[in-house]
Amino acid sequence: ERPATLIDGKAFAAELRGRIARQVARIKTDHGVTPGLAVVLVGEDPASAVYVRSKGRATVEVGMNSYEHRLPAQTSQAELLALIARLNADRAVNGILVQLPLPAHLDEAAVVNAIAPEKDVDGFTVLNAGRLATGQKAMVPCTPLGCLMLLRDRLGSLSGKDALVIGRSNIVGKPMAQLLLADSATVTVAHSRTRDLPALCRRADIVVAAVGRPHFVQGDWIKPGAVVIDVGINRTDAGLVGDVDFAAARRVAGAITPVPGGVGPMTIACLLANTLTATARVNGLPDPQ
Ligand code: NDP
Repeated sequence: ERPATLIDGKAFAAELRGRIARQVARIKTDHGVTPGLAVVLVGEDPASAVYVRSKGRATVEVGMNSYEHRLPAQTSQAELLALIARLNADRAVNGILVQLPLPAHLDEAAVVNAIAPEKDVDGFTVLNAGRLATGQKAMVPCTPLGCLMLLRDRLGSLSGKDALVIGRSNIVGKPMAQLLLADSATVTVAHSRTRDLPALCRRADIVVAAVGRPHFVQGDWIKPGAVVIDVGINRTDAGLVGDVDFAAARRVAGAITPVPGGVGPMTIACLLANTLTATARVNGLPDPQ
């Protein structure tokens, strides 16, 4: 048996960021517009602070403006909504991202849905989720969008493929299922109440694991030749690991994403892609390819 091909998300994302940087340069010279991304962080969650820092760095690297707003943990709902209203009205800001999770006293859904849909580069507003679900032009959540790009690159057409998404969160599992469905895969969405997950998994040509449990998906659940996308980011004593037992799955799968270096880098690249798309749309330009 041959080990699975490694899907190099890091290299794919680097290429995507290069393409975005060239398009940013062009939109600057041709239209005098510099795309701007505002990131809002409330509180001092260390993991969130790391994500916000790397998003800011990546934004500047492709030539966009990055606006970071760090607010204290005790910020009130009204104060946060006032900031979002300001960013909605700010023409220099093309994308707005509120880093989640928010401190418990804040109403996350209300905050997210206050973001103007055309600046909702995370695609988490109800409007964009509904547009995605109904096949209309939407801002698509970055992590599933990155997974879709890797899958299309690997498989070409996804039409008729049996796809299993493990996880039904609003930020990963559900939008992932919508994207696969829109590409005409036959989609199953599994979650904590699913019966006989191993059997479902063994039928799947595509497995997207977004569970949040280290090494949850076993090697002997994988159909030979399947494409396995591991969204999980789990911090363990052994370091960062995914939701898939990588060593075992690699012996069976056709292709698999590593953790780290798989889906993670794609998420940030897709955030930049969405910011560029938002900028193009607000300026009446065609969507960047
Ligand atoms: P959530 O915790 O919101 O969702 C996890 C999902 O897994 C839930 O739907 C849950 O089911 C399901 N689940 C839990 N236990 C089981 C089980 N035993 N069997 C089947 N399903 C189960 O997580 P997220 O979707 O936000 O994230 C998932 C993972 O992806 C995490 O590791 C996270 O760190 C990572 N992540 C990575 C990103 C990246 O850029 N690479 C971005 C975002 C997330 P139920 O609904 O029934 O509770």
